[in-house]
Amino acid sequence: MKVLKFGGTSVGSSKNINSVISILENYSKNESVVCVVSAVGGITDKLLLAGKQAQDKDAAYNDTFNFICDKHLEIINELTPLKGQSIIAFVNQRLNELKNLLDGIFLINELSPKTSDKLVSFGEILSSYIIGETLVKRGLSASCKNSQELIVTNSNFTKAEVDYEVTNKNISDYFYSASSKITILPGFVAKSITGEQTTLGRGGSDFTAAIVASALKVDSLEIWTDVSGMYTTNPKLVKHAYPIDKISYQEAMELSHFGAKVLYPPTVQPVLDLNIPIHIKNTLDPEAAGTIISNEIVNTSQPVKGISNISKISLLTLQGSGMIGIPGFSKRLFETLSQEKINVILITQASSEHSICLGINEADAVKAKVAIDDAFSNEIALHKIDPIIVENELSIVALVGDNMKNHQGISGKMFSALGKNNINIRAIAQGASEKNISVVIAEKHVKKALNTLHEQFFEAKTKQLNVFITGVGNVGEKLVEQIKQQHNYLKKNLKINLRVAGLSNSRKMIFNESGIDLSNWKEQLANGEKASLQGFFEGTKALNLRNSIFVDVTANYDVAKLYEKYLRESIGVVACNKIACASDFENYKLLKTLSLKYNAPYLFETNVGAGLPIIDTLNNLIASGDQVTSIHAVLSGSLNFVFNNFNDKTKFYDVVKQAGDEGYTEPDPRIDLSGVDVARKILILARESGVEMNLEDIKNDPFLSEAGFKSDTVDDFYETLIADEAHYQSLYASAKANNCQLKYVAQFNEGKASVGLQEIPEGHPFYNLQGSDNIVMFYTKRYANQPMIIKGAGAGADVTASGLFADIIRIGND
Ligand code: ADP
Ligand code: ASP
Ligand code: MG
Repeated sequence: MKVLKFGGTSVGSSKNINSVISILENYSKNESVVCVVSAVGGITDKLLLAGKQAQDKDAAYNDTFNFICDKHLEIINELTPLKGQSIIAFVNQRLNELKNLLDGIFLINELSPKTSDKLVSFGEILSSYIIGETLVKRGLSASCKNSQELIVTNSNFTKAEVDYEVTNKNISDYFYSASSKITILPGFVAKSITGEQTTLGRGGSDFTAAIVASALKVDSLEIWTDVSGMYTTNPKLVKHAYPIDKISYQEAMELSHFGAKVLYPPTVQPVLDLNIPIHIKNTLDPEAAGTIISNEIVNTSQPVKGISNISKISLLTLQGSGMIGIPGFSKRLFETLSQEKINVILITQASSEHSICLGINEADAVKAKVAIDDAFSNEIALHKIDPIIVENELSIVALVGDNMKNHQGISGKMFSALGKNNINIRAIAQGASEKNISVVIAEKHVKKALNTLHEQFFEAKTKQLNVFITGVGNVGEKLVEQIKQQHNYLKKNLKINLRVAGLSNSRKMIFNESGIDLSNWKEQLANGEKASLQGFFEGTKALNLRNSIFVDVTANYDVAKLYEKYLRESIGVVACNKIACASDFENYKLLKTLSLKYNAPYLFETNVGAGLPIIDTLNNLIASGDQVTSIHAVLSGSLNFVFNNFNDKTKFYDVVKQAGDEGYTEPDPRIDLSGVDVARKILILARESGVEMNLEDIKNDPFLSEAGFKSDTVDDFYETLIADEAHYQSLYASAKANNCQLKYVAQFNEGKASVGLQEIPEGHPFYNLQGSDNIVMFYTKRYANQPMIIKGAGAGADVTASGLFADIIRIGND
């Protein structure tokens, strides 16, 4: 004999009931089956809603009642289109009783727990009858038995406790003489010894099935639901969750106690002693393997078996100096809660005994506060303790696994994974048996926490990065294309799942929690919402995705001002925009500090030398204990282009114009030609070498003519280049006479930095620098005589995009 239980969704429509019927038909070919059914999906909630509306004198209870009627009649009509009259007659009779009950509640304006149980019992009574009779009408050997005649409880309405002695006898007596192959029982419902209708608690049909399974000592209990087993975590919140094939009773109990709704927590108890395995199966996918819950020890190498969460938690904190060393506070606290029938879900106590922290259901919080403050009113009046502190909108997230005790560092990993994602832990509890480590966090972070922890403990190998790119001009577009092209490579070879979750230009912005489909991102962006810098920040923050990275591909001052906000939300920042790093030292320092404090990387490799690994190399030198003594560098692709093409046969104006037209200079060429851009770069290198310096501290010898340096507009500037051709030719002539090349050089030496045009003699590493190449020579304690040299293309959209890409991957590999 087998006991099967089908949940609300499984009996939520005629289509699903037909699946249930074919499963039963199959099983009953070989053995007799007991089938426990829930109410039609959603009906228990509707019954409670109707009751609440009636109690509140809200006539809408009639609509809710009508919905309940229609739902059942529709199912009957679809299941037994021609032969349903007798079923309808019975159902109508029950529905009349239900209507009378609701009218009564409406009249007296009161809904007691006792009446509530009477009310919700209709759900299972109706569903079990409809299914049982449909089976009979389809010619199967089936009958329906009301579990209220079998399961006897105390009068603890809404969650009654079972009298096993009487119940077990009733069940075995009944089935001893039952002759049909299939017996349908309503789950959830029972009666008290005094004959009042009771229920076993929300989700209690699972429990009914376990009670019957243990009374009949069957060899297996099957719980059929709408998912393919007990998952590693809630599959509705974590896309990558997967069914656990085998799990111990203890683990299943712990997971369900901590919110895995797929199994009602008390279900395990009756079958545990008899060692009856519970098999969780999916009615909508009967071929799926499901989960087997038993006492078999399995897979000891996987310490964490599952992660669960309970929402709507309140944290109560009782604290005060008067508690230290004085016994009895906890006892009184728990007694008070117990008298109020308030369930304590989690407890922590600091070792100083100065405070006790409790997690309870939010619905009980007000009641708890009143009762506790009342119980401790004397001590509160004497200022020995404070009135109880209540914090709401919290959630418990628990790691569960029998084997966690044999593995070190699990809690450490848990806390650091949460910390890295800016999820503040309000309280921690770990049982001495180490089967469970629970943390209390803000409700709003639950989805992120579950996904983060699931990735940490179950996906381990793949790390998801979520980037939010602002500025999709020349460089930004290349970056998006590189991400699109490399997506599969990164996943396969680096175990990084790189997704673009937000994109913005100055006009439009788009977000997608699951990652933007990059095959047509331009179209999507064009149809996006109106962009704003603050809006992009808010959107990024609201998605609250793990490993979020803001990528600034602009040269915009206002964008740079927002880094602070991103970092404070633990959102990493990757920027090719130099403004923040070259701003005043205090701001640079602040961003670095925030990056450390909030565990949010701040990377800006492309600020110097585009894609060349200059800053990364410098950071590695410093991290390994080296010290920079001097830096000599040519850092401007634009100026290199200009001086490589300028000679006595060309005109300075034409060369600068050409550089502008070919995208080698900023739209305003003065930023390059005045040396400001190079000064910013050497400033960043000096700062990264550990020196406190500002832009004003850098000596800048301008090579521009005075008129050029002082020009007000870009057009005026170009005019001066024509007028002052002789000045520029004299620079060239001097260099030629000395057999030198003109290079714009940045230097950092003994704490001082300068930039300026220099005549570079033949044989010098700078002499042969081609095109827009950059070169940096680091002299350090270790590289004292022969510098470390980094040289290569230092400008261009492709290489800059790949520098940004490298920064993103650095975060992924972290
Ligand atoms: P039924 O109506 O069949 O009793 P429930 O709604 O009570 O079904 O339980 C199944 C639901 O439990 C799933 O649809 C899923 O949303 C939720 N759930 C939460 N945590 C888990 C988990 N760890 N594994 C599987 N399901 C879970
Ligand atoms: N119908 C009840 C509920 O929704 C019992 C159950 O489905 O297990 O809570
Ligand atoms: Mg359930």
